[in-house]
Amino acid sequence: MYNKNRNHKDSFRGGNRNFRNNNHFRSRGGARARFRAKNFDPTNMINNLNSMPQEEVVVKEFIAKNKFSDFKLDRRLETNIINKNYINPTPIQDAAIPELLRGHDLVGIAKTGSGKTAAFLIPLINKVLRNPDQKVLILAPTRELAVQIRDELREFTYNTNLQSVLCIGGVSMHGQIKILRRNPQFVIGTPGRLKDLEDQHQINFNNYRNIVLDEVDHMLDMGFIQDVDYIINKLPYARQSLFFSATITDGVERVMKKFLKNPVTIKIESNAPTANVSQQIVKTNGKSKIEVLHELLISPGFEKVLIFGRTKFGVEKLSRELIDRGFKAASIHGNKSQNQRQRALSEFKDGYVKILLATDVASRGLDIPDVTHVINYELPESYEDYIHRIGRTGRADKKGTALTFVN
Ligand code: ADP
Ligand code: MG
Repeated sequence: MYNKNRNHKDSFRGGNRNFRNNNHFRSRGGARARFRAKNFDPTNMINNLNSMPQEEVVVKEFIAKNKFSDFKLDRRLETNIINKNYINPTPIQDAAIPELLRGHDLVGIAKTGSGKTAAFLIPLINKVLRNPDQKVLILAPTRELAVQIRDELREFTYNTNLQSVLCIGGVSMHGQIKILRRNPQFVIGTPGRLKDLEDQHQINFNNYRNIVLDEVDHMLDMGFIQDVDYIINKLPYARQSLFFSATITDGVERVMKKFLKNPVTIKIESNAPTANVSQQIVKTNGKSKIEVLHELLISPGFEKVLIFGRTKFGVEKLSRELIDRGFKAASIHGNKSQNQRQRALSEFKDGYVKILLATDVASRGLDIPDVTHVINYELPESYEDYIHRIGRTGRADKKGTALTFVN
């Protein structure tokens, strides 16, 4: 069994290498004509996956060492965990929570959708409930992700007097400053806005003895490195630092070294990066792409569909075409205001629209329950982006399907 899994992984990597530099997009004028974007074609990888006997793709059932009740958490927190219907800790939670409760620095590496948010929120909330002088700073790469962390924090701190503030760009600073003056225990934000608030002397990073960097790989992709560096340098020396990422790249490692003291590293390996996702290739066979997409979208089972495009313009255009064809669709990309992005996301989450179109950047880390299908209408740029995209479905043990258009 062990060997079979190794083989599976190897062929998987091989596919990645062979296809990384293929360029399936032909420039057709416009923005794309000016540069050749690199892209990742998963065909080979998917063929390898699908030729595997089914049993090899299925991840072994995980049995948690701990129950949430073993962590001896504050009663109120324990009740809130039960109310969220979390029965057993996920692997990263099972391994990380005890270490964090002991006060260690920690590196948590686990695939997307594996429950990293609760892995850091639960022990930190417990710490602050026990010791209200403690303050926590959480850095996230995107506004949406910061909102999501804050929402989850609110659920976990229900019925406690813990306060939090969301410090993200795209909205006025005024409200954020007002709440910061009330000295909330939790500050969740994006690096750029936090730094702006510091420039205006509205926040003093030296007061935060607990710090979380979430989705560090994307923080670096998005060019936040300088702001992150700046913030880290202003933190007090005596602190507990937590670091979460889905992948470790050289850049991630560099930040890690600067940031952590004798960290415990927890890496959750998975046989397949996305064991709950069935991956398929879509060929147009001479038909127009939009027709093929249309056919798919009216097929049974396409209940909650996330469609990825490459550029904000492409995503906007496709979104308009689908709406013209009578579909209810919303989109998130960099040309939308924060309010529009948040509204599109809620409409999709609540089922008011069944199609959400997105660019890679706008979708970092999003946790949307019950996405039935991810459609890569345009190829992702890299293997990491591919994994990230398809990880938006098949979350928390649900099954999902990822369809990738090639040529
Ligand atoms: P990650 O940050 O690793 O991408 P998230 O923290 O966003 O993952 O969690 C993914 C999904 O799994 C969320 O919907 C979350 O509510 C759910 N989840 C997390 N922990 C548990 C648990 N112990 N039991 C059940 N569901 C969980
Ligand atoms: Mg996350």
